[in-house]
Amino acid sequence: MQTIQEIYNQALEDILKIIPDNVYFFRQASNDGILRSYSITPKDFRKSLENKYGDFEKFTKNFTTHLLGQKNIVAAFASTPTSFADAWNMKSDELIAEDVISLTKSGGHFQFNQIPYGPNKSGSSLYQNNYAKGLVHSKGTGIIKGFRHKTGGVYEADSLNEMGIFTYATPNNSAGMIDYRFAEYFSKRVRLPYIFLVTQWFKYSTNYEDLNNWIYMTGVAKVCSTASHPHDPIKLQLVSKDEAIKILNDFLEVIQTKGSFRVRPPFPEHLRLGWSYSKIKQDKDKRKKIIDYAVKHRLRCPGDKCKNVFFKELKLSEIHIGHRISQNWNSQNSGVADVHHPYNLYLSCNKCNISLSEKYPTEIDELINKIGTIGDWLMSGLLDEEDK
Ligand SMILES: [Zn+2]
Repeated sequence: MQTIQEIYNQALEDILKIIPDNVYFFRQASNDGILRSYSITPKDFRKSLENKYGDFEKFTKNFTTHLLGQKNIVAAFASTPTSFADAWNMKSDELIAEDVISLTKSGGHFQFNQIPYGPNKSGSSLYQNNYAKGLVHSKGTGIIKGFRHKTGGVYEADSLNEMGIFTYATPNNSAGMIDYRFAEYFSKRVRLPYIFLVTQWFKYSTNYEDLNNWIYMTGVAKVCSTASHPHDPIKLQLVSKDEAIKILNDFLEVIQTKGSFRVRPPFPEHLRLGWSYSKIKQDKDKRKKIIDYAVKHRLRCPGDKCKNVFFKELKLSEIHIGHRISQNWNSQNSGVADVHHPYNLYLSCNKCNISLSEKYPTEIDELINKIGTIGDWLMSGLLDEEDK
């Protein structure tokens, strides 16, 4: 059983492992295009990790507000991957009306820059033309919100390939490098990718709009790499608005589910349909695969009437498929939950089956979290083992 905090700590361990043993020297061009020399000690890297990610409570609080902010920007402004990539690949500083018409037809979304105005000069730095290209953070959280891209910019490493994958250059300081690596390793551990906004801007002549001679386009990308050196670039893949919103909602749910509950990654649709309660009941082979897995991994019944008997000691007819959320509860609350979802199914012995289903929700989850649901087994290699 893993809590979100344990997963978080594992990601930090992963990052500690890739910190070099010796001082790291490198040369990198800054925004003005001039190559400079830098050095970072192992201690600097560790200090950056501790400063930024040492406090789990603070992180989750900031991350939640960050995710909600991302969700609202994605909902309002995200362009389709196709149109965003087309605009990028034009490699043009300036657009004309005909370009914009084509790009919006394939799902592109444009907006004017946000003019710094008023006492606090409000407005997102994603959409202001007085900022350099590069990283943008969710203000006050230290969490990367996205990247500003200027077509024909100075970072050679920023590129977009035909698969819709960006390679983004790494900042020249240890804190920035650690941010990239955290995004990657936390995503990998929690099995949900970080979502970044990517903006690109173009000159766009608009008469009588003196300060509005620029337009911005927003794309959405998910992290799709795990680097083995702090200074490696990060790889991001463009995704659709729907996919991004789903990931952000899943992330919010995972972050808000604290305590000792198992964090369950999103479940592939073909497995949900193929391994639902009725499919497992009907299909002897599927049922056998599940029981073989439980036997092979020396799993026990989660109930106490049998004193947690090993499944291998039971006859096939004595092993039952239980529902975490019971079918009885479901009949009274129709449509609230998908009770036949593999994440809702677990194995127990015939003696404990009925008594377990009365323990919903917290008690039964604590018991089942120890051995996992059938969905958890499917996600952790039940089918791979079968193939070998
Ligand atoms: Zn039992």
